[in-house]
Amino acid sequence: MSLSPERSKLAAVTDVVIVGAGPCGLFQVFELGLLGLKAELVDSLPQAGGQCTELYPDKPIYDIPAIPVCTARELIDRLQEQIRPFNPGYHLGQEVTQVGRRADGRFDVVTNRGTRFDAGAVIIAGGVGSFQPRRLTVEGAEKHEGRSLHYRVRDAAQFAGQDLVILGGGDSALDWTLELVEKANSVVLIHRRAEFRAAPASVERMLALREQGRLDFIEGTVQSVVEAEGRLSGVRVTARDGVTRTVSLDQLLVFWGLHPKLGPIAEWGLQLNRRTVAVDTAKFQTSVPGIYAVGDINDYPGKKKLILSGFHEAALAAFAVKEHLRPGEKVHLQYTTTSPLLQKRLGVAGESGEEPGARHSA
Ligand SMILES: Cc1cc2nc3c(=O)[nH]c(=O)nc-3n(C[C@H](O)[C@H](O)[C@H](O)COP(=O)(O)OP(=O)(O)OC[C@H]3O[C@@H](n4cnc5c(N)ncnc54)[C@H](O)[C@@H]3O)c2cc1C
Repeated sequence: MSLSPERSKLAAVTDVVIVGAGPCGLFQVFELGLLGLKAELVDSLPQAGGQCTELYPDKPIYDIPAIPVCTARELIDRLQEQIRPFNPGYHLGQEVTQVGRRADGRFDVVTNRGTRFDAGAVIIAGGVGSFQPRRLTVEGAEKHEGRSLHYRVRDAAQFAGQDLVILGGGDSALDWTLELVEKANSVVLIHRRAEFRAAPASVERMLALREQGRLDFIEGTVQSVVEAEGRLSGVRVTARDGVTRTVSLDQLLVFWGLHPKLGPIAEWGLQLNRRTVAVDTAKFQTSVPGIYAVGDINDYPGKKKLILSGFHEAALAAFAVKEHLRPGEKVHLQYTTTSPLLQKRLGVAGESGEEPGARHSA
């Protein structure tokens, strides 16, 4: 857990940092919020939703209690709406790389973009791991990353007037091809097959632009990168006709999809069971006091990797975090239906028009 917090920028002093903004990380904000705890969400993806938005946004889900059917994207939209009263900080597009316990028992949490949090507790909701782009692995490519080789577009304006080569055949590759063709000097799309895994309308539009000579498409495979005076100047591509030629470029964009990697979580000194984090089933605490794990990332006897299991885990973890942060303070179990305090925290106080009802102690 080697840390260099002095080189990072303090983003928040908070009760909890949640690593992962998938469905379980989002619902964790809600359960913490009901107990009066503030949370910051960090995710390596540029959007919230984890596997739901990254892998199957338009597929129907049938096993969320009281929602007979909704798409994965709708589930994430609803969760984000549900946690809005608790106003979590969203820190997307950055990976939590370091978690270090301090002498005072709090945690320094640092991301790969130099964002730092001072947190009372950490809840890992990292799912199957941090989603990483599938990289171009030909020799010499890596050193151009972030300069002329990109796996993500942060600012489309940086590609204006340039010669672009785009690799990929899915929605991201096609969407960016269609957007950047309007800004770039030239665009060449390269995909290993003539069949695409993208919306048919995008493919049609790309082929129409190719007909008009506005962009080029090569069915082929990149064999190597070409450099000129230390900078990336082209790629060698073997096309379907068997001929290998050089395609010149200023910028290379690769959209080959994402794959999950446990990544830095494995370095935080936690007891692991292969690619999961061991927890107890009362608090969902890991082997390090103050660090909890919920959702697909955790492991305990009988674990089932379902969203609904993660929701239950989030509720219990929230109570445990509250006890950890306020030792000796009694944590009451209250109903949202009847508790004026919970309704105040939810921003709905007075809306039910009912008298406060019974309270139950945990
Ligand atoms: C095709 C498909 C269909 C499915 N259908 C269903 C279904 O019908 N019902 C059901 O219950 N479940 C279903 N599942 C499973 C369900 O999607 C998962 O159980 C659920 O997504 C787990 O949620 P999570 O929040 O634990 O993790 P995830 O959704 O995996 O989110 C974890 C997030 O953590 C982030 N992360 C990890 N490490 C870091 C780090 N170091 N720094 C920053 N961010 C990090 C990742 O980028 C990711 O966004 C399905 C899964 C698939 C693939």
